[in-house]
Amino acid sequence: MMMSKHVPIPPEWQADFLLKQFSLSHRLGYSLSGVVLVFLPIFTILDATLVSYADGELIWKHILFRLPAVILAITFLLLHHKKDPGFWAYPLLLTLNLSIVGMMAAMFVLHYSEQGGHLLYITQGLTLVIITVATATVYGARDLALIYGLPLTAVIAFIVFSGSPFPDNPIHLAFIPAAIGIGVVIATMLYQEHQRTFIASQQLEHSALTDALTGLPNRRSMQTDLQAEWSRAKRDEQCFAVLMADLDRFKAVNDQHGHEVGDEVLTILATRFTNTLRGGDRVARWGGEEFLLLIPNATEESAMAVAEKVRRAVAEPPFATSAGNLAVTLSLGVALHRQTESIDEVISRADKALYRAKQEGRNRAVLAGD
Ligand code: GH3
Ligand code: MG
Ligand code: MG
Repeated sequence: MMMSKHVPIPPEWQADFLLKQFSLSHRLGYSLSGVVLVFLPIFTILDATLVSYADGELIWKHILFRLPAVILAITFLLLHHKKDPGFWAYPLLLTLNLSIVGMMAAMFVLHYSEQGGHLLYITQGLTLVIITVATATVYGARDLALIYGLPLTAVIAFIVFSGSPFPDNPIHLAFIPAAIGIGVVIATMLYQEHQRTFIASQQLEHSALTDALTGLPNRRSMQTDLQAEWSRAKRDEQCFAVLMADLDRFKAVNDQHGHEVGDEVLTILATRFTNTLRGGDRVARWGGEEFLLLIPNATEESAMAVAEKVRRAVAEPPFATSAGNLAVTLSLGVALHRQTESIDEVISRADKALYRAKQEGRNRAVLAGD
């Protein structure tokens, strides 16, 4: 696997990425807890039987070292079962990982000081654990700084200060730094892969909801917004307004100057919309030269004021296109949503008002009646 260039997450997607990382923590922690709860009892039974320790105290120590990981794994499964979307998953995953490396580090220290024959097994176990936990990380090497750093520092401090003699065959201790190196590479690659898939899915979602010509949200995107606004209006007893806007005699622009100039007009129109609208207001390209504006928390007066502002912003100044300055005007139909009304019904009233605006001479906004 080649490491391709690292692409950071754009600032506007950081919050979404954070949520993705939390849900990733849920999944990783869930699987890791399962693995811990299957394997640790097996290892403990093998310890007590196959390996046939004469030393009962040693088995108890091993059980004690394994206990934190088991408790954390059970906690994870219980919390996960509650299906709460909380942010506990990431810190708990880190702690679980830390308890697993810590468990092996504690065993390592125990057998190091006793210089028993088991040090080789424990070192191999530690090596395996170091590589395994790297696959259950969310933020790559940043996570490992904690997961590896703490136990490693403790082990080194022990070796330095305990005065225990160096093992007879220290060569296998080299497994540990090698495993740490592999772990860091694995975790970094996984993190970059998470970022890449996240960016790709965001871009896909963005392009599915954006009109390619104008860069405005498309009809599908607006339908989601309308649905959300409609639900909010029901809940909070607030009204929203739908403005249906349609360019006047746009066919003539295409016929006189060509389709490309028509496209330029649509693009300039989009910037006039976005420059005119306020924060909570939204506009989408609803059809060819038809745009739908959604004004939350509106009254008939405020909706008409927005419509008038938009109409004026289009009518003046003329549009600077490659075919020269063109006078462009817009007609709007304005409908205020009523409590019992469906989305289609309010749009249909806005459409009828737009039709009237056209009939009454264009370049105007008309408020919908019943
Ligand atoms: P009215 O004032 O009654 O709305 O007249 P109009 O000419 O704007 O209305 P009509 O519906 O007859 O024409 C709409 C035109 O919009 C026809 C179509 O070619 C043009 N159109 C729709 N989508 C696009 C587009 O993406 N680019 C360009 N250049 N033209 C488009
Ligand atoms: Mg039209
Ligand atoms: Mg038109």
